Amino acid sequence: ASGGPGQKVVLITGCSSGIGLRMAVMLAEDEQKRYHVIATMRDLKRKDKLVEAAGDAYGKTLSLAVLDVCSDESVEQCINGIKDRHVDILINNAGIGLVGPLESIPIDEMKKVFETNFFGVIRMIKEVMPDMKRRKGGHIIVVSSVMGLQGVVFNDVYAASKFAMEGFCESLAVQLLKFNVTLSLIEPGPVHTEFEAKMIQDVKQKEYPGTDPDTLHYFKNVYLPSSVDIFETLGQTPDDIARCTKKVVE
Ligand code: NDP
Repeated sequence: ASGGPGQKVVLITGCSSGIGLRMAVMLAEDEQKRYHVIATMRDLKRKDKLVEAAGDAYGKTLSLAVLDVCSDESVEQCINGIKDRHVDILINNAGIGLVGPLESIPIDEMKKVFETNFFGVIRMIKEVMPDMKRRKGGHIIVVSSVMGLQGVVFNDVYAASKFAMEGFCESLAVQLLKFNVTLSLIEPGPVHTEFEAKMIQDVKQKEYPGTDPDTLHYFKNVYLPSSVDIFETLGQTPDDIARCTKKVVE
């Protein structure tokens, strides 16, 4: 994959659904055709929603590639498949959630969250950064969360993965300035996606035996209903986040 003359090559992770899907479509549909979007996902069987949403842009300003941010091999293969390994804008969007009392979560699941939300981003940045530094230009965007700034009950490990990412980015951003490479963080609040729907469903269904009853009561009866309220009141959609990201890219 490569961009046309004057087009910026944008690589986005996690485009099979939610925010990543809308970012890919919105940038590919740019009226001035400034971007060639490489929309990546770990399983191309999940491509239909994106292909349908992209319409005419598919195959023109939007192409697809396989990428699992948890695999060194997959990341390397994906970047090697891009002409001259040249990425102008990297959008690290892929991420997973994890919610529930700490006692109920196996350590391996916690590691998976860090492997995806933290090391997945680092893996991507390490792969594209040398070329950006050499060319003295580039933009790296990381989708963090308000939970990268503020902890939330029962989101301990997810919030920690985003906090860790924020610290990593703030430190790296300073080093990249000299090379004219910008690093930006996007910090969405609750967004209506599969991610959010799964989180609410999971917590509603589970019993969590052995958990501190006050915390469980607070989470199920105060936090959860009020966050559902926030989803409905604020009505933040993947399009809102995609629009904001497009402004950051411009
Ligand atoms: P979705 O679940 O809709 O999308 C997540 C995407 O990440 C999917 O495309 C999923 O792909 C992909 N993904 C998961 N693991 C991997 C992996 N190992 N390699 C490559 N892709 C992977 O959620 P959102 O759109 O809501 O989430 C996008 C980002 O926004 C995340 O980083 C999330 O933390 C952040 N965010 C979301 C908020 C929300 O309320 N929704 C709030 C704040 C931040 P697959 O189809 O293969 O599972």
